[in-house]
Order: sequence, then C-alpha cells, then structure tokens
Amino acid sequence: MSSYNPALLRLELLAQGMKVDANFNKQLGGALKEPLWTRTGPTSTGMDLRLEQGMYVSPAIEGERFPWHYKDSPFLLCNDDEGRAVIKKNGEIIQYVRPCPRPRFYGKKTSSGNLMEKIGVVTGDFLAIALDNRCWFWGYYRDDELTTYKERQCKFCGIGLSMKRDELYRKSNEDILEVVGAAVEGGDVTHVGLNAGSFAPPGRGHEEYAELVREIKRRYDVWVRLSICPPEEEKYIDILYDAGADQIGYDIEVYDEKLYEYICPGKLHEVDRGVPHAHFFRMLEYAAKRGGPNKAYSIIVTGLEPLESTVAGIEKLCQLGVVPRMGIFRPIPGTHLEKHPTPTPAFLVAVYRALRELTMQYGVDSGCPGCGRTFVGTKIYDGVNPIMPEITDEDIQRAGIDMDTLYKEERAHRRRIPPASDGALKEGTRP
Ligand code: SF4
Repeated sequence: MSSYNPALLRLELLAQGMKVDANFNKQLGGALKEPLWTRTGPTSTGMDLRLEQGMYVSPAIEGERFPWHYKDSPFLLCNDDEGRAVIKKNGEIIQYVRPCPRPRFYGKKTSSGNLMEKIGVVTGDFLAIALDNRCWFWGYYRDDELTTYKERQCKFCGIGLSMKRDELYRKSNEDILEVVGAAVEGGDVTHVGLNAGSFAPPGRGHEEYAELVREIKRRYDVWVRLSICPPEEEKYIDILYDAGADQIGYDIEVYDEKLYEYICPGKLHEVDRGVPHAHFFRMLEYAAKRGGPNKAYSIIVTGLEPLESTVAGIEKLCQLGVVPRMGIFRPIPGTHLEKHPTPTPAFLVAVYRALRELTMQYGVDSGCPGCGRTFVGTKIYDGVNPIMPEITDEDIQRAGIDMDTLYKEERAHRRRIPPASDGALKEGTRP
C-alpha cells in the first residue's frame, strides 16, 4: 500500500464523497454508528471515520441524500480480505480506517420519552445538539414597499426543511441535560457543540443558551462550544462567558461582500444593518478580547466564493484573534444551492495551505480536529495549537491531482453562483 497523506486524503474525501460497499453498509446501526440526518444536514449526513494518525473525517455518502453530487467519487469504503475497514481509490487500497462505534445511548429514551438521538447526535468527538430547529431568518418577509415577499434565510441552509424529517422544534433543557450525561458518562464524547437557528433580537438567545451552559458545566466535566447569532450588545456575550462557555462562534459564512448579500440576506440586513460583516466583526472582536486566545470562532463555508476572498476572510479573522473554522459546502436537497457544485480537492488544498500558513503566522488556532471532521483544517492530536500537518507538492502529485490545471479552473468557475433550481424556493413567491 502506498503512503498516502491522511491530511490530503480527508480533503479529497470531503470534496468528492465516497461510496460504501453493500456488505460494509450492513454493519451500520449495529456495531458501527450510522449517519443520521439532523437539523441543517451538512455535518450529520456523512460517515465518521478516523484515518491514519487519528485524523477525523466525515465524507458524504453517494446516494439518495445527494442526488446530484458525488456520483463519480473514486473512493470506496469496504473491508479487506481480513475484515479490516479500508478506503480504496479507483480500486486500490490506500488507507486503513477506523469507523466509529455506535454510541451506547442511541436507542435509549429520555425520561420524557424522546429518543436520545433525536436530542443529540455524536459527530466526531463531540455531542451535537440543536436547541431549536427554527430560525428567525427562515421564511418570507414583506419588503420595505410592501410589494413583494423576500427571503432572509441563508441560501445553503436547510434548517426549515428539518421538520419534514420529524424533528423536534424546541428541545427541553431537561432532555438535553440527560443526553449530555449519557454521552459524557458513557465515554462517547469529550466536547459538546450547541447551536440552533437564529433567535430574536436583542439577545439572540444568549440568555437561553447561558442557562443551559451553566447547568451543563455544573454537572459535567465537558468542554462546551456554541454557534449563535451575534447579539445587539456586548453585554450578552459577557453573560455567556460568565455561564462557562468555552468557545463562542458567530458565523459569517461568506466573506465576499456581494456574495454575502446574495447568500445571507438576513444576516446582512438585520444583523449588520446593511454594512457587510460590520456587526459580526464588532461582536467577534469583543468576544475574542473578552474570552481570551482562541475563545471566539467564525465559520466560513468554503466553496461558495473565490479563493481570493476565502483566503482574505481567513486573514481577517486571524487579525481579529478569531479562530477561522473553514466549513466545506455540502449541498442540501430542497435549498437554493442544492445543485451548486462542491469544491474540488485542489481548491480545498489551496485553502488548507493558506489556513495553515495564516494561523501559524498569527498564532491563532485552526479549530478542534474532532469538531472539524467536515472542515478544511485538521490536526493529528487534540488540543489548542495552531499547527496543522503539511501537505506537500509530492503528496499532491502522488494523489494524481493536477494542481495547476484544477487551480486555474477553480478561479474562473467560483465566480458564478448558479440560479435556484426548480425544486428550490424562489424569492417573490410564497410557499
Ligand atoms: S442563520 Fe442562516 S445558516 Fe443559520 S440557521 Fe438561520 S438560515 Fe440557517
């Protein structure tokens, strides 16, 4: 078996997805953790694996969840002749992998009778819980002239579609605390990641989250990270840190100003008051200073804008002392961007190298590797440290990636966002 850089392999898997051998599939939901589809979808639909050197990854699985993507993936997850889990690329075994065992609390119920995996799912090394599956920006609003209806939701997001999958709107704190206890005490996780759709101003949910975080920290020795919409005023950030939050994220999603306006209209008009990222950066800067090093982060969705603005976004966040968490676009059926192309391996490698260089230069962390199993950055160990493993030109050549050609294609190709497909909601009409 050739030596294959796992940091590069994970980017290829995240860009191209993988197929899963039918025999391997039979183990899912038994000894091995099955991929579930919760909330917005992108990070729960993949298959959690650990590559060589313990690197986490969760590639999308080619199939009905992704009708337009990943069909040509060269990767296959299967067992070798001795029953070990392996990844094959174009039929050749390139790496042994470790699939994740099914969490012990899956299938159990909370005291109120809800299935525990409906409350929280294990993803990588953390328990992911969406408090509330509604978003303040999801839906249709009259414009200022009261003539047409406009959407404010982010165009890649599928949170409003989650109800069709029978998800709970608002999870109770009692249910959440029970599931955190089951996951932490069962040894399934070391981190808890909380999120939800955006709450109403002025606090945007900071007080509600603080109540829960305080109780989690009081009962369990666990690290708590959360993604939330920036509040109107800094005092709400104090409330969250005082409750014990370990890391707070305000996600800008897209750095290019024009694309931000198109893709995230609610965030631009209501949070930033029409000045791209202005309020986000004000709150991120405060959170970074108030919390200390690596206590604030922001997610940019890699693959929705050109490389230049992606890298400029990383640098801007580093300058603010904010951890740049580079998510990777994964299309969700039913959304405006359901047919938007996914980023190529070469594009992700270019972003990875820039992320590595800039986080080292500014001394900013590149994100937790377990939490970032669907993100660009990775590390070969847990902990806060800005060092990502290198991906060399030799690694890229060995993988058969023509960096020059793909990189040039990428630069032209990324400047355009295709129009909404027939299946997606359109502005100006009501559902
Ligand atoms: S703010 Fe945007 S990304 Fe977040 S839940 Fe609402 S629509 Fe989705």
